[in-house]
Amino acid sequence: MNVLVVGGGIGGLAAAIALGRDGHRVTLLERQPTFAPIGAGIIMAPNAARVLGALGVDLAPHGRELTALVVRRADGRALSRIEPRRADPAFGPLWALTRPALHAALVAALPASVEVVHGAAVDAVAADASGVEVAALPGRRFDLAIGADGLRSRVREATVGATVLRYSGVTCWRGVMPNPGITDAIEAWGGAARIGVVPLRDDQLYYFLVLTAPPRAPALAWPDGFAAAFGHIGGDAGRVLEGLTAAPPLHHDLDELDRPVWGGDRVWLIGDAAHAMTPNQGQGAAMAIEDGLAIALALRPGLDGAHARYVAARHARVRKVQLDSRRLGAVAHWRNPLARAARDALVRLVPDALARAQYRQLIRPGLALAAAAAVTAR
Ligand SMILES: Cc1cc2nc3c(=O)[nH]c(=O)nc-3n(C[C@H](O)[C@H](O)[C@H](O)COP(=O)(O)OP(=O)(O)OC[C@H]3O[C@@H](n4cnc5c(N)ncnc54)[C@H](O)[C@@H]3O)c2cc1C
Repeated sequence: MNVLVVGGGIGGLAAAIALGRDGHRVTLLERQPTFAPIGAGIIMAPNAARVLGALGVDLAPHGRELTALVVRRADGRALSRIEPRRADPAFGPLWALTRPALHAALVAALPASVEVVHGAAVDAVAADASGVEVAALPGRRFDLAIGADGLRSRVREATVGATVLRYSGVTCWRGVMPNPGITDAIEAWGGAARIGVVPLRDDQLYYFLVLTAPPRAPALAWPDGFAAAFGHIGGDAGRVLEGLTAAPPLHHDLDELDRPVWGGDRVWLIGDAAHAMTPNQGQGAAMAIEDGLAIALALRPGLDGAHARYVAARHARVRKVQLDSRRLGAVAHWRNPLARAARDALVRLVPDALARAQYRQLIRPGLALAAAAAVTAR
């Protein structure tokens, strides 16, 4: 089939790789003049890493393996700790890497047959029963278009109409700095404020500062506003503020889609275009990567019924991750001291075995998807 993938982010690249490897003729259209990922660092959970492995993308040369995901109170006291390899020895690594490194790994894995067109943005999409056309590629006709153009997807808007984005209630600053010696990925929950740190290769540290705030609130003043908002957070996560010499380079309000939107017929949606979610479980890009492979699997028997197969494979999975992530974010930012004390006691009381079981539920569907790719490979 002749497939147009709109958007060269993580989801679009994963889809282009999966479809190209299955022998489809793929055109990947990216509005930027180069592949230019926005962001600092990223976690690739074992489900994402396994699916990428099935697509021939090896993160080992680019990433740092994380052995533990730790949640702490603002005073540094541990609340929970998940060690992915202890949750299930079959999981394989959980990687942390910079966004440019992840992009480079994906771009390197694009099959030579994939045509990449940079610097052209899709605005409108004309689809009928036999194919799809976009003004950005005049004279070309495709059997199928995949909208992988992110949170503010034009393809989604052209297909299902305007979608109101849902503000998560928090705003987030991100960056990369020298690592002062932190070895685990740590989140410290301090009421309205939360700080996360993720060690990267080459003694770098990816950090994020998250704050409950009204939508589109003015940015905090540097340094006093940051000290007032985050200064009460201690422990390893609190060392971020000590190490910063300027305001973090990236600042975004965190918006999401209320529920997944999958497109239909000849125009399908994946990744943030379909189901942008809060980053609280570190799974948004993982879901986009799973979508990319799921699309190729749904198309293997042919186009007839393929969209229904795709939605059946993805909806319940993605919806659960989206809702769990939303809930986790709300709980992490509870401000009432009594509620926080009860929450902290409860989180500490959750037996390790239960926490590991929950983590297995999150990861295993991705492993099954990767295994299905191998079983049904042509
Ligand atoms: C603070 C934060 C932390 C996160 N941390 C993690 C994490 O640790 N792990 C994880 O798995 N996920 C994480 N995520 C989620 C992850 O970043 C997203 O889910 C992921 O980037 C979505 O990829 P995508 O390809 O669907 O969309 P995008 O990354 O938005 O890519 C869309 C692409 O389409 C292009 N494009 C847009 N419009 C057009 C157009 N009209 N025509 C042509 N091209 C177009 C854009 O230039 C871009 O290249 C995080 C998100 C945030 C906000």
